[in-house]
Amino acid sequence: MTKDVTELVARAQELRQQAHHDALTGLLNRRAGEQQLQRCQRAAQLECQGYALILADIDNFKSINDRFGHEEGDRVLQRCAALLSRKVRSGDALIRWGGEEFLIVLPGCKLAAAQELAERIRRTMACEQDAVVGTITLSLGVGAWQPGECSSTLLRRTDQALYRAKTSGRNQVAVAP
Ligand code: GH3
Ligand code: MG
Ligand code: MG
Repeated sequence: MTKDVTELVARAQELRQQAHHDALTGLLNRRAGEQQLQRCQRAAQLECQGYALILADIDNFKSINDRFGHEEGDRVLQRCAALLSRKVRSGDALIRWGGEEFLIVLPGCKLAAAQELAERIRRTMACEQDAVVGTITLSLGVGAWQPGECSSTLLRRTDQALYRAKTSGRNQVAVAP
């Protein structure tokens, strides 16, 4: 009887993990990430505790897949996720937002601190050498919540900053005005 309950609890935990996390990287999946973002937005509105976003996208990832194969591409995604995990604090949300795009939600974080973190992530990634692929770089957009702003507007501004980092030559951090 006790064993049955233990197994049920373990199974429920496993299902919860699968529902909220991305299978490849173990990071929060997009749906769970959207919930975290909404939670942060509510705290911002109620308590005027701001937050910041970092949107990071692997540079030229399609050519990594093309040159080394999809499995190596998957491994690069896992490597990226592990590096990002080492850089964020426990209260931050780290989300696999799209294929090779990661969103970091930073509660209580100001723009300058988010920019510094993004720059540390960029630098660490660019300095490490992968045994197979060599140098992997990231472009990052950074944005901070402004009073009265909804999360989708902040996301759009952060995405526009990421786009600027890409068009300015990649392996860069750009900040949303
Ligand atoms: P940019 O520097 O502009 O971001 O170029 P990019 O090549 O990184 O971007 P693009 O959007 O052209 O290509 C992204 C690629 O990511 C295309 C898609 O096949 C690949 N991809 C998406 N999800 C996965 C995945 O789970 N595994 C692997 N191996 N590849 C994936
Ligand atoms: Mg990319
Ligand atoms: Mg992309």
